[in-house]
Amino acid sequence: MKSDIVIVGGGISGLSLAFYCAASGLKTTLLEKRDSVGGSFNSHRFSEDGAGFWLEMGAHTCYNSYQNLLDIVDACHMTDNMIPREKVPFSLYRDGKVLSVMSALNIFEALKSVPKIFSLKKDGLTVREYYSQIVGKGNYDQVLRHFFNAVPSQPTDDFPADMMFKSRPKRKEVLKNYTFREGLQSVAEAIARSKGINVFTSQEVTGIEMLDGRYAISTAAGVTYSAGALALAVPSRVSSKLLQPVDAGVSGHLAKLEAASVDSIGVVVRKNDLPIKPVAAMISPEDIFFSAVSRDVVPDDRFRGFAFHFKPGLSEERKMKRITEVLGISAAKFAHVYQTENTVPSLRIGHKEWLETMDGMLRGKSLLLTGNYFGGMAIEDCVSRSKSESERLKSL
Ligand SMILES: Cc1cc2nc3c(=O)[nH]c(=O)nc-3n(C[C@H](O)[C@H](O)[C@H](O)COP(=O)(O)OP(=O)(O)OC[C@H]3O[C@@H](n4cnc5c(N)ncnc54)[C@H](O)[C@@H]3O)c2cc1C
Repeated sequence: MKSDIVIVGGGISGLSLAFYCAASGLKTTLLEKRDSVGGSFNSHRFSEDGAGFWLEMGAHTCYNSYQNLLDIVDACHMTDNMIPREKVPFSLYRDGKVLSVMSALNIFEALKSVPKIFSLKKDGLTVREYYSQIVGKGNYDQVLRHFFNAVPSQPTDDFPADMMFKSRPKRKEVLKNYTFREGLQSVAEAIARSKGINVFTSQEVTGIEMLDGRYAISTAAGVTYSAGALALAVPSRVSSKLLQPVDAGVSGHLAKLEAASVDSIGVVVRKNDLPIKPVAAMISPEDIFFSAVSRDVVPDDRFRGFAFHFKPGLSEERKMKRITEVLGISAAKFAHVYQTENTVPSLRIGHKEWLETMDGMLRGKSLLLTGNYFGGMAIEDCVSRSKSESERLKSL
């Protein structure tokens, strides 16, 4: 099967790249190993008796600063499906109680430290070094760091401070933060339906080689695709492994990056069975899960749902027991349960230098790399990287 470009990975990075490539007239093929597109855009639908109830098992919030994403949303006629998120709090779960963040903060310490926000630069500082000065060490250790850890579901003390939360120009006419009527995965599916993109799911790429100056991409299903250009939009360690036979230099540089696995369990409960007040998410310091993200931001008449994002390597029994304890109900009350796994990068100081070297190695090549391990892991970082890679391809 011949294309101008084959893109491996059907998360938002691969899909947005496919969108840009198809828009510039390239015959574009996208290969995804799962049976549906989206990757971390995973609005799992509990079709049984859930009558279409969905729960975000990965990303859940978009912002009006996601300008490149908004352009794609517009082009895919999804703007009318954007909806505001219900204003329910991100809460702290401590000693069996759901608490507000403000009640846990030491306000005097915060007031004393916060003026530093005007003078202290994030550049070259870790999250811990920067934010413990902005909110005070006690506030950082006891409250804030647990909220930060919940973002990429891993310890973030050593993340570069300037890669965690970026300030970007905003589109003032757009909702400040939003989701979509059928969840974020509906955006992924709309992009996949765009003209000029051929999407093949259940196609796990297992091998890449060069044949007569073209990439030959083979999958576990036994199909081989051929293209003049290749893009990898999969976790860095998968890209590193796949590229070993065709570009050992790029493969070796990718292998320097670390990433973490996130084990997620989603549970759906009948509304009347759950004693907890509506929340956007619960963060439990020093627990076996980083966050329990709720569907309460898009209320449903019958059900509520929580996606628990656990530390890796725990037994199923231990995770399920903890879910019942936190929700205060027995497992018999769960209407549905769903499990999945995501990969998130573990970014470190020095990442910008790593990126400069990577881009230098890619210069002049018809090999594109995108994903959440370039400018940052937010959705807009992924789409921006895809946009710049598509522009690099055009300039070759
Ligand atoms: C729990 C969680 C919550 C998040 N919340 C937010 C949020 O609210 N807002 C925000 O801005 N960001 C959020 N993020 C970050 C953001 O969602 C991700 O960084 C982004 O979606 C990653 O997209 P991606 O396409 O780079 O990777 P992925 O979504 O991981 O996609 C990679 C795809 O490649 C496929 N694949 C892997 N190997 C192969 C192979 N060999 N062959 C073919 N296909 C393969 C995978 O199946 C997957 O579909 C969150 C992330 C997580 C994990």
